[in-house]
Amino acid sequence: MPGAVPVAGALAAVPVAPTVVPLPGPRSAELLARQEQRESNARVYPRHFPFAIAEAAGSFIRDLDGNVFIDFLAGAGVLSFGHNHPELVAAATEQMGLFTHGLDMPTPAKDAFTSAQLAMLPAGMRDHMKIQFCGPTGANAVDAAIKLAKTATGRGDIIAFSGGFHGTTHAGMALTGNVSMKRPIANGMPGVHFFPFSCGGVPRGVDPTTWDTTAVALLEQALTDPNGGIPLPAAVIMEMVQGEGGVNPASREFAQRVRRLTRELDIPLIVDEVQTGCGRTGTWFAFEQYDIEPDVIIASKALSGIGQPVAIVIYDRQLDTWQPGAHTGTFRGNQLAFAAGAETVRIVCRDNILGNVRDRGEQVAARLAELADHPGVLEVRGRGLMWGIELNEAAAPVVAAARERHLLVLTAGPTVIRIVPPLTISREDLERGATILAEVLA
Ligand code: PMP
Repeated sequence: MPGAVPVAGALAAVPVAPTVVPLPGPRSAELLARQEQRESNARVYPRHFPFAIAEAAGSFIRDLDGNVFIDFLAGAGVLSFGHNHPELVAAATEQMGLFTHGLDMPTPAKDAFTSAQLAMLPAGMRDHMKIQFCGPTGANAVDAAIKLAKTATGRGDIIAFSGGFHGTTHAGMALTGNVSMKRPIANGMPGVHFFPFSCGGVPRGVDPTTWDTTAVALLEQALTDPNGGIPLPAAVIMEMVQGEGGVNPASREFAQRVRRLTRELDIPLIVDEVQTGCGRTGTWFAFEQYDIEPDVIIASKALSGIGQPVAIVIYDRQLDTWQPGAHTGTFRGNQLAFAAGAETVRIVCRDNILGNVRDRGEQVAARLAELADHPGVLEVRGRGLMWGIELNEAAAPVVAAARERHLLVLTAGPTVIRIVPPLTISREDLERGATILAEVLA
């Protein structure tokens, strides 16, 4: 395979045909076999996508055996403009020649990144928010946000929601709804209380059309009733659109009532935008669509746009009661991520990328609406370029069939197919992928 990094779009001209070589092809099979021998049993993506990646550009990936795939995964929502966007590559490459690792020292790259992130906040929030640079994963920023809320309030309990996902560190798991994921680490962080989320998990006999208001009323009752059994918590943590839990968007009323309640009771509201942030749902942060202002925002995945790891907590400066060194970490100064991240924001604004997300989102919605009548499809739901198709059976076989037709999609839980293409995907490429998906489901 060519060693050079292809420019974005170079692979787009390659016809996406049925598998050239059955998966895995011989060269991929060799690497997969060595990986199985040498790497942890916890590896996950190669089980869904049995090939080795040779190169990628824009919305396309080529495997070692020459198969080309349309990528509706975007590195699990990390690659804002798809693979190897030339301007992001140039920004990171230029920084590489200067220096790459800066601990939490101020640097021009970090300064520009910080300005860009603050500028993307709603106008009313910009002046009173601060940024904590965390270890380079979403889960580390979740940990930081929880520690910050506990420190600032002097309280110990946390409210989380069923169906929520907040990472696979010990604390992230403790805040995550999925019980089968948590079981092996019994006795997780104490003081976490789960309440039902706006959608999903509707109990038998309860009206699903008013479930969001019922769910939030349960939370209101528990926190305001002196006999509710729960001490005033340090924080409420929620996703605006639950990602791993099945692409579940909160309803507007649910989100607004959670915000009103937490404000009345002086409970910091932490919004985990690790997956929904950086334009994925059509606004820079998803909370903007709900007309609420959280006290704490967690962002990571797509911050650098090209998969250079970086994670931040953006929070109300009134919460900044931390002592020096309260949340350290060696890898909090990834200058390549900062350079590419500032460039990402510049391009998002210059090219009206959020407009593309909204337009392509409407296109996906229209195509998926056609699928909603399919007997195997229970529901389609999403925002912007983050969509889920809930099936009445396991999603994995559909993901496998799509893969055989060279479309890469993820699952979100056992019965949901998740679609998270690059934010820059073209109408044509989205159409190609949607057609494959429709054929597979048919
Ligand atoms: N929070 C949310 C909402 C996520 O979707 C994820 C990752 N899927 C995380 C936290 C954890 O991020 P990371 O994998 O970078 O630790």
